[in-house]
Amino acid sequence: MKQDYAVIGLGRFGGSVCRELSMEGMDVLAIDIDEEKVNEFKNIASYAVIADSTDEATLKELGIKNIDHVIVSIGDNIQASILTTVILTDLEIKKITVKAQSDYHEKILNKIGADQVVHPERDMGKRIAHSVISNNILDYLELSDEHSIVEVKAGKKMQGKTLVDLDIRANYGCNVVAIKQENEINVSPSADEVLREDDILIVIGADKDISRFEKHLV
Ligand code: ATP
Ligand code: ATP
Ligand code: CA
Repeated sequence: MKQDYAVIGLGRFGGSVCRELSMEGMDVLAIDIDEEKVNEFKNIASYAVIADSTDEATLKELGIKNIDHVIVSIGDNIQASILTTVILTDLEIKKITVKAQSDYHEKILNKIGADQVVHPERDMGKRIAHSVISNNILDYLELSDEHSIVEVKAGKKMQGKTLVDLDIRANYGCNVVAIKQENEINVSPSADEVLREDDILIVIGADKDISRFEKHLV
């Protein structure tokens, strides 16, 4: 089902969300207080308007109530971000996603009723940190404060060995949930599957266990 979106704040993050949604054929209402930013999106979004999102009457005039999902991406002006979010929750918008600038900002956004709070700089920072620890750590996804999933290349240390040889669950408390080999993905790897250097393991576990696994085997 096609949804209508609005993106408020057309900085690098909001701008990128707006571009991508538009490219996927979605109807996007792009809003920014800055005329130059709005002009940039005239030919990209379905509608691009100059407006101050902290003004409830203006948002109402724009028909924000008819929009299924609003993404707020005002980072630096935390006050404007919070005020905009409060107005949107008051208007009972179906889904509100807000970009947070800090952990404190994130806490407030959750308290005032944002449905989804994203923290792209922090999350990307974590992913990059893990990928620079080793060339074999390909990706990192946080599941909770204490659990994550990592994607790692088997590399030389695991090549020619099986999950039993490495005894990953017993030694590191982590679970290999899938193994990618070339174009195939095996979602229930058997314990005696022999790993090849280029195999990619998808490993789930507690952060402290994953960290030990990374130190010893990746
Ligand atoms: P990024 O880092 O992704 O570039 P940011 O969130 O750090 O973005 P900001 O400059 O804080 O960058 O905000 C993004 C956009 O939000 C800016 O283009 C700014 O003009 C717009 N903006 C700020 N306040 C309002 C407001 N009250 N109403 C509408 N747009 C606003
Ligand atoms: P367990 O007592 O841990 O359940 P098991 O009886 O299932 O082991 P096997 O399946 O043969 O025995 O596995 C032996 C060991 O191989 C496990 O203890 C574990 O350390 C490792 N292992 C097997 N499969 C995985 C997996 N998917 N992820 C991580 N380690 C695995
Ligand atoms: Ca920023």
